[in-house]
Amino acid sequence: MTDETISNLAHEDRTFEPPADLAANANFTQATYEAAAKDRLGFWGDQAERLTWDTPFTEVLDWTDPPFAKWFVGGKLNVAYNCVDRHVENGNGEKVAFHFVGEPGDTRTITYSQLKDEVSQAANAITELGIETGDRVAIYMPMIPEAVIAMLACARLGAPHTVVFGGFSSDALASRVDDCGAKLVITADGGYRRGNPSALKPAVDEALAKLGDDSPVENVLVVKRTGQDVAWNGDIDVWWDEVVGESSTDHTPEAFDAEHPLYVMYTSGTTGKPKGILHTSGGYLTQAAATFHGTFDHKPETDVYWCTADIGWVTGHSYIVYGPTAEGATQVLYEGTPDTPHKGRWWEIIAEYGVTLFYTAPTAVRTFMKWGRQIPAEHDLTSLRILGSVGESINPEAYVWYRDNVGGGRTPIVDTWWQTETGAHMITPLPGVTKAKPGSAMIGFPGVSIDVVDDAGVPVPNGGGGYLVVTEPWPSMLRTIWGDEERYKETYWSRFEKQGYYFAGDGAKKDDDGAIWLLGRVDDVMNVSGHRLSTTEIESALVSHPSVAEAAVVGAADETTGQAVVAFVILRESAGDEGGTDDAIAALRNHVAKEIGPIAKPRQIMVVPELPKTRSGKIMRRLLRDVAENREVGDATTLADSSVMDLITQGLKTSS
Ligand code: ATP
Ligand code: MG
Repeated sequence: MTDETISNLAHEDRTFEPPADLAANANFTQATYEAAAKDRLGFWGDQAERLTWDTPFTEVLDWTDPPFAKWFVGGKLNVAYNCVDRHVENGNGEKVAFHFVGEPGDTRTITYSQLKDEVSQAANAITELGIETGDRVAIYMPMIPEAVIAMLACARLGAPHTVVFGGFSSDALASRVDDCGAKLVITADGGYRRGNPSALKPAVDEALAKLGDDSPVENVLVVKRTGQDVAWNGDIDVWWDEVVGESSTDHTPEAFDAEHPLYVMYTSGTTGKPKGILHTSGGYLTQAAATFHGTFDHKPETDVYWCTADIGWVTGHSYIVYGPTAEGATQVLYEGTPDTPHKGRWWEIIAEYGVTLFYTAPTAVRTFMKWGRQIPAEHDLTSLRILGSVGESINPEAYVWYRDNVGGGRTPIVDTWWQTETGAHMITPLPGVTKAKPGSAMIGFPGVSIDVVDDAGVPVPNGGGGYLVVTEPWPSMLRTIWGDEERYKETYWSRFEKQGYYFAGDGAKKDDDGAIWLLGRVDDVMNVSGHRLSTTEIESALVSHPSVAEAAVVGAADETTGQAVVAFVILRESAGDEGGTDDAIAALRNHVAKEIGPIAKPRQIMVVPELPKTRSGKIMRRLLRDVAENREVGDATTLADSSVMDLITQGLKTSS
């Protein structure tokens, strides 16, 4: 083993076959893989026909100036027309686009024809406020229909949006508004969170105050959601109701070039300063739509789809706002948290709307495991036919729990690996084809070329570990980092420049069948006595112990071994009573040694009440590394809940 490969130690041999009826009627089959392998660009050219083009493209891909790609050259389209108007024109205007469920229990049903009217009104109003094609708009909203409407209205005008997660502070908002030079901010007075109205507008006011005279913002458009008091600056603030509500529902969409910028989305910042990822129109929408159709086997006549992601995360962009609407889906949109007013809220919603396709993150699944199987068991979840997972590796134990307790042991799970940068699914099972293995994202989506390479860029054989790369450009790839071409080239294309591979920054292994297992960030890989160990494998081993609900491991400097494994665990609610914490910790250390090997045995295990997570549920290991190495905790501005680090450090002080 060289220092550069990641030790490949864990073993998992359960597999799940696709259900026969699903396989027999699947949108994508083995033949899809074969066709795409034979003619990759031809496959993507065919997928682009899922969209309605105003001017047809003349070339699928122009890659003459790598790493700057042009997909569907010469083609022109309007993204919002594709997501909304064409369904109305095709006779599906009365079809429900969104079943909105507010946290306090208010609901709204929005058909495609109503969506078309509201997106048109918003587009007219935003134009009135002086926004032109190419101007940037920041969106800082709760999960309410107006958030989706605002995004689609920007897309309709060719005004790139940047959505900032509503849980972020005014600092995070100010830096993003500043970085992309947003002329307009769309926000709300507040939203409902854990049973209470939570204000948003004050953070916008603070952000603008911080930017001062340099602020690019000319107007703030405010949706009234909670009715709470807001400070008002009559020079720039305008109520949504007053301008959007009064605008005409007639708006003619203009066709833009396939490469016209659609949005800038900032990454979650787990490995450093967030990067403003630029996505464009034709290629992005093609892959968002094709993956929604293929990965979720979406059947427009019968499926009801629900993705629990926030729109402030790329998953909310590709798999709420763009992919599903381009495919004419009926969706659930839910404003709140899973435990308000009770811990069965999500399951109640699934039963109420007959949700068939459900997409969430492993962190949520582990939370439900912690709460216990009796909660989903109280609800009728038999409508579900496919479950999805995104954001990080799903530990095999969590996968099996999800499949059994939410999916009734019947539903395939699609574990989708992708990034803000990739725009859409890259590695995933296909529900009607793949014999899935819990914990593996399996293989590249049709038309996506994935490999695992060693330090020199040479593909590792089956059974080996190394760096995950994408070896060919793909339609929904990022086009650059906003305003920083050098950082774009440096971050993604310099590591394997000679080979021309995209460097994803994740470690991975290929098993004996060639299936891909994600091993965590290359930045998070631990080096213990010369063995490079995967965070994902050790965390999965910890989670496979009945007393552990969640786990995060990091490498901390160690005099003898270079680095040592330090684990942070949340115990399950039932765990506490079986002997003291010391016994539990000793048992866990031995459990890891048994599951993975003595080299992976944590030097130290700290029991904590919470883990620091981003908006998408990713654990911020770099902050835990600071704790493990007794340093001041670093930049925590992109945490979903910024008080968590205090909770952790204070708890450790009192327990030691
Ligand atoms: P930053 O790049 O600023 O650190 P980030 O990478 O956390 O932010 P995202 O683009 O939201 O922001 O996350 C992409 C990463 O999430 C992937 O690189 C991978 O590490 C992880 N990931 C996403 N889905 C999966 C999955 N199904 N299995 C394993 N890892 C996943
Ligand atoms: Mg990243």
